[in-house]
Formats: sequence, structure tokens, C-alpha cells
Amino acid sequence: MQKIETGSDYPCPCRRDARLVPIALTEALGCDKCSNVYVIINDRMSIEQVSGMPGVKRVLGWNGKSWQSVNRKYSLKRSIILISVIILWSLLIWIMAQLFPGQWAILACILAIVCFPMVIDLLSR
Ligand SMILES: [Zn+2]
Repeated sequence: MQKIETGSDYPCPCRRDARLVPIALTEALGCDKCSNVYVIINDRMSIEQVSGMPGVKRVLGWNGKSWQSVNRKYSLKRSIILISVIILWSLLIWIMAQLFPGQWAILACILAIVCFPMVIDLLSR
């Protein structure tokens, strides 16, 4: 893996003809075709996607020709956390439904669904 220079020109991982352009005064790179934004992390050795779905932040390294995913082990750990959270969350909704029957159960379900992406985002940090 090579060091990432903010002054250099890199293709965006999304498409072959898309370019990553440095965002002024930041350690970030933005794509000129899609809305993806990447921050330079790990002592300029990799970039992390900051936009997109919470919990699925991609970390990529530059090998001189293309971007390569560098967080395989990490993402496995992340998916285990994700699955356990889903199970715990369903259990919580079920307990709530038992404790508060009727309209309160519906309210609890809505609340749980709304809060779910936030919990995933907090855990994946
Ligand atoms: Zn792009």
C-alpha cells in the first residue's frame, strides 16, 4: 500500500472515470461524479468513506493502481456486532410489546425502528 497525497489525482472507487478531488482545507477527498467523501486516515495509508449508510463505512488503501479494501477482518467483527444488535433489538421490542400491550407496543416498535440506525452508527465508530 502507498501513501496518499492530497495533491495527487486518484480515481474514485465508485467508477473508473470518476476522480477524487481534494476538499480545500481538509484531509478529505470528494468524488466529482458521485457524492462520496473520503477522509485520509491511518497516517495517510488509507481512506475511510464518511458518506453512505451508517455501519458500512469502507476503508480503502491505494496500491498504486487501484483502491483495495483493507478492513476485511474489521468488517467481520462489525457484522457480528451488527447481528447481535439486531437480535437484542428484536428481543427488546418483544419485551416492550409484552410489557405495554396495545398502542404502546406500536409506539415502542416505531421508536425502536427510528432509533435503530443511530445505535448502529454509534457502535460502528
Ligand atoms: Zn465516485
